[in-house]
Amino acid sequence: MTISESGSGSVVLMDGTTAARRIVEQAAAAAAALKADAGVTPCLATVLVGSDPASLTYVRMKQNRCARAGMASQHVELPESATTAELVATLTRLSLDPDVHGILLQHPVPTHIDERAAFEAIAPEKDVDGVTSHSFAAMAFGEPGFASATPGGILRLLDEYGVELAGKHAVVVGRSPILGKPVGMLLLARNATVTYCHSKTVDLAAYTRHADILVAAVGKPRFIDGADIKSGAVVIDAGYNPGNVGDVEFDSAAAKASLITPVPGGVGPMTIAVLLEQTVAAATRQAARI
Ligand code: NAP
Repeated sequence: MTISESGSGSVVLMDGTTAARRIVEQAAAAAAALKADAGVTPCLATVLVGSDPASLTYVRMKQNRCARAGMASQHVELPESATTAELVATLTRLSLDPDVHGILLQHPVPTHIDERAAFEAIAPEKDVDGVTSHSFAAMAFGEPGFASATPGGILRLLDEYGVELAGKHAVVVGRSPILGKPVGMLLLARNATVTYCHSKTVDLAAYTRHADILVAAVGKPRFIDGADIKSGAVVIDAGYNPGNVGDVEFDSAAAKASLITPVPGGVGPMTIAVLLEQTVAAATRQAARI
């Protein structure tokens, strides 16, 4: 556990790198066992539309982690000009491919594409990034299913640090379908009182200042300052902006928080770990049905 002296108090850094390493080691062991028992190597397929350099880096990181965990990966790249129909056809093909066990469509897709239609083309049993309506319903009702990977990773990190969620006021800034919305759903399922803020929220600081648990999921560098954070809050910075900068102004936030995720090394590694873990789980379930 890393304790950092900052400002007036001491804050604990939530080390996602170490927590993620443990999850990936367990996933690798489960993948090896599945290979030995059933001859199946879990395979994650990633799909990227366009050539955004940051998205390309994220996809490569996921492929590298798969390889290091003894898992297979496939990658499909479609041009920026690809249509919704072409993307849906690709995701449908991967959904039907018995050698693919998990599918990830890298977000965001170009604005001319109907992202919801694309997500729904992913077979629910291969939806290891938890983006389909099926996965959303499972998260909303607390039923078995795949959690959205980043929100799932955030919950795992909160658990890792023993953060009590029931009865706490959780404020989620951002409501995207891959991050803000599902993380609020998972926190609600664990009995937190959840407030969502977004670009139309009036007086954002009035909400963030009352958050016991603050999740920043905006995509704007250093957007939330320590002055707008409650003393002793748990701060989860899911933002990842150019220059390895989060959505929270780290120094001023660390001076107020009791626990805080660093960027990088907080939420990011947990996302990939949960993705790999869910891919192995998907492969295990699919192998059991053969
Ligand atoms: P997104 O789809 O662009 O959503 C951003 C959200 O922020 C939207 O809900 C938007 O509100 C809200 N927002 C924008 N301006 C705001 C303002 N002034 N005040 C309050 N809310 C505002 O982004 P995303 O995909 O969720 O990603 C968010 C960040 O997380 C990015 O930095 C991304 O790189 C990072 N991320 C990290 C990981 C990881 O593994 N670490 C994974 C995914 C994303 P509206 O809905 O009203 O537009």
